[in-house]
Amino acid sequence: MTRNSSIFPFSLLLALILVGCNGIRPSLSSTATPAQSKSSGETIVSLTFDDGDADNFDIEPLLKANGLNATFYIPSGLVGTQGHMRWDQLQILQADGNEIGGHTLNHIKVEGLDLESLRHEICDDRQNLIAHGYIPVSFAYPFGNYDQQAQQMVRECGYSSARTVRGPALIPPPDPYALGATPYIVNDTTFGKLRRYVAETRKSGGGWLILIFHHVCDGCDFFSVKTDVMNQFIPWLSEQQSLGHIKVLTIGDVISATSP
Ligand SMILES: [Zn+2]
Repeated sequence: MTRNSSIFPFSLLLALILVGCNGIRPSLSSTATPAQSKSSGETIVSLTFDDGDADNFDIEPLLKANGLNATFYIPSGLVGTQGHMRWDQLQILQADGNEIGGHTLNHIKVEGLDLESLRHEICDDRQNLIAHGYIPVSFAYPFGNYDQQAQQMVRECGYSSARTVRGPALIPPPDPYALGATPYIVNDTTFGKLRRYVAETRKSGGGWLILIFHHVCDGCDFFSVKTDVMNQFIPWLSEQQSLGHIKVLTIGDVISATSP
């Protein structure tokens, strides 16, 4: 699959502290104003996996063992087909606290689609996920392409956010239906580079770092991250979280905490 690949800087902004009770509510730092939050410099990292690739399920034990949750954007029409995760695997991901989001029914580019096709690809995908027991609130545009009509449809279909592939991400997001993200993680992305993404976000005063993963394998695809890299990165992230340097949150958790 061809995807646009671009490099974007990600100097990011504000801080976020979640209060974990019934329907997580926002609490932007103990002393309240966004400006103060910025200086308090909290760094939020969101791990996102696109396409529901079968090898994504291989990292479920790794995430679980390290107490981290990710957002998996699933094209529901492809679930259970060759090379993709099955519904029972998605159920396990969700049971472990991971988020299942939408990514169109058939993984097609939504930019330029007519309204009927948009509704089918975006709303019917969401309804399909709902029929399987999920409550998807987060969406990602396949290939990162979208237009105003697609954005509007994502909102009408009931999603609270949509991720693109261009950064940076900001908290609160100026447009939740055009969430920024870092460049794609690809097969030569090293542990050191991932670590630098996090370090640079912290150094710039904190903010929201959204990482985009596809396959998890040893070079099976250009859009992949090596298993060994994840075996280093995930425990390191968990350690950074334990040290209070970062928080690792799903997209849905961040959005629900920053929504008015
Ligand atoms: Zn995709």
